[in-house]
Amino acid sequence: MRIFDGHNDILNKITKMPDPLNTKAFLVSDPGHLDFPRALQAGVMGGFFSVYTSNPSSVPSAEDRMVLSDDGYRITLAPELDYDYAHQSALQMIDLLFKIQDDSLGQFQVVTNSSELDHCIENNIMAAVLHLEGAEPIQPDLENLEFFYEKGMRSLGITWSRPNKFGHGVPFAYPSGPDTGPGLTDAGKELVKRCNGLGVMIDLAHLNEKGFWEVAELSSQPLVSTHTAAYSLVPKTRNLTDEQLKAIGDSDGVAGIIFSVNDLDGGKRPKDNAPIGKIIDHISYIADLIGVDHVAFGSDFDGTKIPAELGDVSGYPKLVALLDGAGFSKKEQEKICHQNWIRVLKASWK
Ligand SMILES: [Zn+2]
Repeated sequence: MRIFDGHNDILNKITKMPDPLNTKAFLVSDPGHLDFPRALQAGVMGGFFSVYTSNPSSVPSAEDRMVLSDDGYRITLAPELDYDYAHQSALQMIDLLFKIQDDSLGQFQVVTNSSELDHCIENNIMAAVLHLEGAEPIQPDLENLEFFYEKGMRSLGITWSRPNKFGHGVPFAYPSGPDTGPGLTDAGKELVKRCNGLGVMIDLAHLNEKGFWEVAELSSQPLVSTHTAAYSLVPKTRNLTDEQLKAIGDSDGVAGIIFSVNDLDGGKRPKDNAPIGKIIDHISYIADLIGVDHVAFGSDFDGTKIPAELGDVSGYPKLVALLDGAGFSKKEQEKICHQNWIRVLKASWK
């Protein structure tokens, strides 16, 4: 089964290594969740490669920002990133992505339109979508938005779980709904319109609920969350309520299911593991609620803790077997595994 994955953080991970342009850490091998040989072996045909800027070292760690209560926990939001810091960091990750393409000898390609995507599918070339996770590298007056478009950005998450000039991300909290603060700024609303005009897919992951509904109102594209889960199963800020999921279904969009143990499985305290079957539980729930055309994978490999039984990208065949066991037909599995992402990308890029 061919797999298209809605989210990975390999670029962030490699750029923190001593050699930030070490393409071998993807193309040859790496001890983490993801590298090219294992992905190819597991059937991965492509996915979203996230350009995500970590908090600077001056910001206390998530553990240090965690506030515990009797029934759960809350990690307070990190402060806004400095523009120059975010911009430099993003450029480095984009350089790495294109160096991976160059060093892959034609086996890996950054795709920027439907025909390039089709070319990759037909020729078994791994297709990468350049995704900006958090709009901090973009100037609030949007002066350099087209610079990033020209660089190949075709998917944009307005926020990570922090505030920025465009909107407010959700903190990580359990139990808590996603309605955690104000929505988009005027610059954020303008960003949505400009992305629609350029044909850049807008990703709602990490945005709070007010921001979500403002994008739903403004955007002419399918609504998409690249890496998320169902709030009805696990009441966590990052997860989508039934109303949000229905809006995604109504817009012919997609929710990519994250493999993060703490989004998949509830608990008063963050945990290190969850059963692999929780991934299928969230997929089945969303497929029942809004239809099998609107759910997909959004692993978050190399960005989060995943079920031990899944292990790494090599675990994809196990997930496909579990989809089979849960009663999804071959046609339905193809939609979940890759066709839904391909449909939504093409619709967003028009
Ligand atoms: Zn994320």
